[in-house]
Parts: sequence; C-alpha cells; structure tokens
Amino acid sequence: MTIPKVLLIYTGGTIGMIEDPIVKSLKPFNFNQITNEIPELNKLNCQIDALAFQNPIDSSNINFEIWTQIGDDIFRNYDEYDGFVVLHGTDTMSYTASALSLMFQNLSKPIILTGSQLPLGQVRTDGKENLITAIEIASMKRNKKAIIQEVAIYFENQLFRGNRTTKVSADHFDAFKSYNYPTLADVGVEINFNYSHLLSGGSKELYYKNKFDPGVLVVFFYPGIVVKSVIEIIKNSSSKVIVLMSYGSGNLPTDKNLIQFIKSQANSKKIFLNVSQCIAGKVEQEKYETGLNLKKAGVVGSLDMTLELVIVKSMFLLNKYPFDNLKFKENFVTNIAGELS
Ligand code: ASP
Repeated sequence: MTIPKVLLIYTGGTIGMIEDPIVKSLKPFNFNQITNEIPELNKLNCQIDALAFQNPIDSSNINFEIWTQIGDDIFRNYDEYDGFVVLHGTDTMSYTASALSLMFQNLSKPIILTGSQLPLGQVRTDGKENLITAIEIASMKRNKKAIIQEVAIYFENQLFRGNRTTKVSADHFDAFKSYNYPTLADVGVEINFNYSHLLSGGSKELYYKNKFDPGVLVVFFYPGIVVKSVIEIIKNSSSKVIVLMSYGSGNLPTDKNLIQFIKSQANSKKIFLNVSQCIAGKVEQEKYETGLNLKKAGVVGSLDMTLELVIVKSMFLLNKYPFDNLKFKENFVTNIAGELS
C-alpha cells in the first residue's frame, strides 16, 4: 500500500514561530525541517513535504499575487500529492480560503488551511494540534478517494467549508465560525465527518484560474450616516462593484436620493450588492419595504454568502466578465463552490 503524500505550504502568520534558543525571542522556523520541530508528524501514516515562502507574511499583507503564488504551488503539484495544507495567518484566512475555493473548481483533493492563535514555539500553542489534525484530514481517504474534496479551514477541533467562515475572535482558540453552514467534521477522540455536507468534485476536470480584479468598494451603513456623502464617495470611486452593508435581512434607510442614485447607475455603470451586517441568516430584500426599495432599484441580494466571500467572488467575477454586468449578476447568485445555500 502506498502511503499518502501531503504538501505543506507555509505562507506565514503566527503559527510558524519558534523561540530562538539563544536570544529567546520568536522567529519564523525552517519549515523544510518541520518534522524536527514536531516529531509527532513522523507518527502520521503519510509523507509530508514542505514548501515555505522565502519571506513569510503577516496575513494582513495578503494580496492577489500571493493568492496566485499559493494557487500555482498547488496547481503545479496537484497530481503529485493526495492533499494540501496551507499554513496561513488567521486574520485573512477566510478571504484566502474563499479565493482558493473559486480558483480551484471541481477539486477531487483537499486543500486545508490552518494556523494558530499562539505560535508553535510557545508551550500552550494551539498550532500543534491544528497542524497535526489538518495534515491527518488532508491524507484521509474513503473507498480510495479523498474524503475532503474542497477548500476547508481546520481550527480548534472543527473543519469548516472555507468560504463559509468568518474570523470572530482575536483571542479565543476557536477563532472561526461558520454560521450559515454546518461543520464538515468535528474532532474529538475520533474525526467525525459530516458526509452529507461535503462537496465532491466527481469526475469533472479540474478548473484553475488565478486572476482577480480589485474594483470593489464596501460601504458600511449606520444610523446618522450622511447619505449625500455616501453618494459622492460612490460617484467618485472607480470601483464597479459597490457592496452595501445593510441592516438585518437587507434593509437601508429610506432615502429618495440614494434610491434614485442607485437606479440611475445600476443598469449600466455600477453593480450594487447587498450584504447584511448580521453574520448569520440571509439577505431577503423583499421582506421589508426598506429592502424592497433596493431590489426595485436594481440591487442584488447576497443571500447567505459571507462578506469575505462576496468581496472575493466579486473580484473573481469582475475579472472573468469585465464588460458583462448581466453575466456577473447571474454568476454572483449561482453556487460555484458551496458558498451559497
Ligand atoms: N496577524 C497574524 C496573521 O494573520 C495573526 C495570526 O496569524 O493569527 O498573519
């Protein structure tokens, strides 16, 4: 029997730090020698190879080039390995997971992102368990096929669909939540997969695309906001996609000028999307008059997609359909990678 091969890609973040034995401060460690640092990895029934970024980043510095770099590393090695684990800072992990889920469609292998709240080099680190279990899950098969065939985040005993997650805590170990989709696996003594909620790439050919367009502007509404200024900001912005962060099920203040402005732009120039400030539940613009006005003006509701996903999906679709707003809108409300119920 051949043992599974997992490729570990280290991009940076808190997880990859250990204490320098001489100066006692934290520094990134050499991931090519990962099994020296975490000898437990030798006990897993899989071969682990590591690819480390030359200059590890704090994930707040993530950008399209780095998404492309991660994507290309996986794509180049796709046939060679049974699964991929991406070590990533937690701050923007949900954005990167969303991006990878759109970049790689029809996956038949797992891409699992993980990280930690405390560096590997600290005694109470959560990184060790996160890393070991992420690798174990990435190598697991059932009937000779990978159990996970999608982009997931493993964090603190839970495996989530990556494009459904949001980072909710800066200090708790369970830093991620997926409010609109159940966990893919719960980890205790056993790893219990939620089989009926897993994606499967089937036999379709892998699709890989690594391009994005940054033309997205997010506008957060709050009581007292000066709508006139909002209109000016949108007017002066070169961004084509305007994400309106609304209340509840997708409601915004009743303001004739705002509605009129959206109407005048929505059919030609800009694309307006409605994302709720609530992180659980879905946008239903027809529920209240304050949402219905937006729908009638041409605003597209984001259903139960996360803000992180909406931003990344917009950038992805803008690149794909730069001159076709209708195609953009059709695809925006279409499920591509399990991001939408
Ligand atoms: N600022 C760090 C990052 O996202 C935090 C972390 O790794 O958890 O890279």
